[in-house]
Amino acid sequence: MKITGEMLIGASAVRGADATLRAFDPARNIDLEPAFGGGGAAEVARACELAEAAFDDYRHAPLETRAQFLEAIADNIIALGDTLIERAMAESALPKARLEGERARTVGQLRLFASLVREGRWLAATLDSAQPDRKPLPRSDLRLQKIPVGPVAVFGASNFPLAFSVAGGDTASAFAAGCPVVVKSHPAHLGTSELVGRAVQKAVADSGLPEGVFSLVVGEGNAIGEALVAHPAIQSVGFTGSRRGGLALVDIAAKRPTPIPVFAEMSSVNPVFALPSALEARGDKLAVAYIDSVTLGVGQFCTNPGLVIALDGPDLDDFIDLAATAIMKKDTQTMLTSQIAGAYASGIKERDESGARNIATGVKGKAASGALPVLYRVNAEEFLATPQLSGEIFGPTSVIVICRDEDEMISVARHLEGQLTATLLMEKGDIELARRLLPVLERKAGRILANGFPTGVEVSYAMVHGGPFPATSDSRATSVGAMAIERFLRPVCYQDLPAALLPQALADDNPLSLWRLRDGELGPN
Ligand code: NAP
Repeated sequence: MKITGEMLIGASAVRGADATLRAFDPARNIDLEPAFGGGGAAEVARACELAEAAFDDYRHAPLETRAQFLEAIADNIIALGDTLIERAMAESALPKARLEGERARTVGQLRLFASLVREGRWLAATLDSAQPDRKPLPRSDLRLQKIPVGPVAVFGASNFPLAFSVAGGDTASAFAAGCPVVVKSHPAHLGTSELVGRAVQKAVADSGLPEGVFSLVVGEGNAIGEALVAHPAIQSVGFTGSRRGGLALVDIAAKRPTPIPVFAEMSSVNPVFALPSALEARGDKLAVAYIDSVTLGVGQFCTNPGLVIALDGPDLDDFIDLAATAIMKKDTQTMLTSQIAGAYASGIKERDESGARNIATGVKGKAASGALPVLYRVNAEEFLATPQLSGEIFGPTSVIVICRDEDEMISVARHLEGQLTATLLMEKGDIELARRLLPVLERKAGRILANGFPTGVEVSYAMVHGGPFPATSDSRATSVGAMAIERFLRPVCYQDLPAALLPQALADDNPLSLWRLRDGELGPN
């Protein structure tokens, strides 16, 4: 398939005339062909109007049609073959194996949502029978189901050009809920976005769905994204990116005449608590695994372990020495964009000036806009007094926080901002300390791991990729896993509706064979 540089507005391909944008190859430091025509508010309005027009037909289409549509997108992405992988490699500097893995994850999550749609538990179908003889007052017949909120705007992430972009988790979960989607193309992977966009556009047509179910807009600067969030047809927003970008969209959404929710995943340092018995038993292996996790994908993961917190002592000294040796073997690698590389360089400069001690750095490689891995150490007291040390630097760097005693470790845990993950490296002997930390960490993080490193997020039913601010703008949600669908649903109660008007999910004879909560009993009733 050929990349044309057009936007996809419903079934049409439209060349924007407001600006000319170019994709960029950060490894070779060159612009990529073709030029993209950037659009503006007019194209956003057209895409949103089509989405609004498509909403009722799409949400009322049989669940089987919706599931097959998600599977068709997955099939069409696979059919793009190496064209997609090669373009994504050029635009992101990510290696082939990583992008092939990401493609597998992307189609895997589309298929997970297809099976979720068929299973129907997300409808939360609930029936409370009428009690006409109840005293002192009779009870009405009450039935509840969840319905989609309406058209959703999606902003893809720079660091996952496939799995968190045009047909990534936000889009898949919104489609699964029954919402049309308008995607704002990420400027760092315009060509990859168009290819995947065309795969989605074809699936819409082949599934016989209204064209407005999907659009992809492209534009220069923030204006097009701002117009998208402000458009009255849009009812919810999914975003992954910087804290500044996420908060800007939250602000626009809150100031609309009709405010809407923004599910923004933004910033996390993913603290790792390396507890004493674990350091004693296997500090050597943990040090190597820690540095591998910090430098994986040039540190460009939202779950990168940016902090290790441990108790002072000889085992920690050994761990620090081994981590330093490990990081000194890592070389500079090209980052996703020159802006991200610039932000990393200035974050490191600030950290150098913050009082944290540089333990070791990696070695200079050939990368054009490469990021040099850096490891720091700091005493807990200084850490607690220096806000800069708690903030995310997106890239291959991490700080080891040294605590005098367990109480100080708990104080550090309490001091942390909201996180996507928190990790306990522990052995049996650490159980009492872990028991003290757990209630603090539950209030801080969306996922708590034992004896692993947080990079690597499973797409499954029980996954939570979310957490209190600034990890996300809404800690009640996840952007990965089956529960992500909840962001784009809302409950409706039907009171005393005649059978002829009831939705199928709530009909007496349960024609969809759903598991329902009927008079307090859960089952296929
Ligand atoms: P970004 O600058 O926040 O951009 C993300 C998307 O939002 C882009 O499509 C961007 O498009 C749009 N956008 C940003 N600010 C906007 C605004 N004020 N109004 C309207 N649209 C806006 O993030 P990025 O380029 O993906 O990465 C940059 C930084 O994000 C990284 O250095 C890192 O700190 C952070 N990041 C965090 C995670 C995470 O999961 N926590 C993941 C990736 C990146 P335009 O620029 O074209 O407007």
